[in-house]
Amino acid sequence: MATLKLEALTKKFEDMTAVDHMNLEVADGEMIALLGGSGCGKTTTLRMIAGFTTPTEGDIWIDGERVNELPSYKRNVGIFFQNYALFPHLTTFDNIAFGLKLKKLPKDVVKEKVRKILSLVQLEGMEKRFPKELSGGQQQRVALARALVMEPAVLLLDEPLSNLDAKLRVEMQVEIKRIQKEVGITTIIVTHDQEEAVSLADRVIVMNAGRILQVGSPKEVFDCPVSPFVADFMGFGNIFSGRLARFRDGRGEILCGQETLYAPEASCKGIEEGEEVTLAIRPENLILAEAPGRNVLGGRIRNVTYKGHMTRLEVKDCLAEQDLYLSVHDYEGEGAGTPVRVCLPEEKLLVYPREQWS
Ligand code: ATP
Repeated sequence: MATLKLEALTKKFEDMTAVDHMNLEVADGEMIALLGGSGCGKTTTLRMIAGFTTPTEGDIWIDGERVNELPSYKRNVGIFFQNYALFPHLTTFDNIAFGLKLKKLPKDVVKEKVRKILSLVQLEGMEKRFPKELSGGQQQRVALARALVMEPAVLLLDEPLSNLDAKLRVEMQVEIKRIQKEVGITTIIVTHDQEEAVSLADRVIVMNAGRILQVGSPKEVFDCPVSPFVADFMGFGNIFSGRLARFRDGRGEILCGQETLYAPEASCKGIEEGEEVTLAIRPENLILAEAPGRNVLGGRIRNVTYKGHMTRLEVKDCLAEQDLYLSVHDYEGEGAGTPVRVCLPEEKLLVYPREQWS
């Protein structure tokens, strides 16, 4: 158990800044997800915490101790990297026991620690199997057990589920969360998958170009992204422009080409009448409407894609600027060319000042 603090942590590779003055405090036992697109600095951040990469500037504190100068093996950090290969010639038991044996712990202590961790990751009975005799998910659990058995103060997980199929991924997400809570270990998980981040973490950090754009609970980041960039990254799908014409009766009236959309005044904080704005709404928050009404736009279906648990509709002509995307359940309507009405519920519409992209 430990706290972790990053202070103005920065890494430059020649003239490229990979991590830019990052500040972060992680509480004891907390699980944080670092979320961001490729190259935004997630792995570099983990590598600095682990002691594999030297920061250009800034400090790293673990449990109140500045660890910048401590070598990796003295930091008490467990690491689970993407493609973290198991030793193919060692059994499950020996793979997990490897670090403990290096520490020269007595045999019976090693045995007991490995037994406990195997039960935690639910791999009892697999001690004697070699990696090639285990499924992908079981191998991932051995790798996780190998990191956990060392009882690190901080656990760093870099895309731990990236190589798994969809079903195993979900199973492992549940498992990682269960183990993390059971052991109460301070954890940072790196992912580029927004659903994974929100389902696993206590807090989500959205990064871009080495900087933190938003820190919040999964719900805050999922429902109330601070900018259109974060909204786009969090799967809002529909992001378009307009102009806030005026406020009336507690609503902002927003002109989008020929159409007028309405949003609660509270959603238009800091925006003046006449100002250009960017709007965002999630595909699952758009509704097919029966009749005309407020925030209902007419259009035609361009495309219908059946996705199993829902159907994705691409609708043209609602807005001059771009198509709208809807994610609907139980769609039984017609295909391309069908006229439809799309409702953008006021309370689901996010409004940003135009210049506030990132
Ligand atoms: P991904 O999701 O693709 O793994 P990431 O967010 O983990 O990306 P990093 O691996 O931290 O990104 O890389 C951040 C930036 O730093 C990238 O532009 C990368 O090319 C650059 N970078 C990383 N390591 C080095 C290095 N050793 N030398 C030079 N540039 C590097």
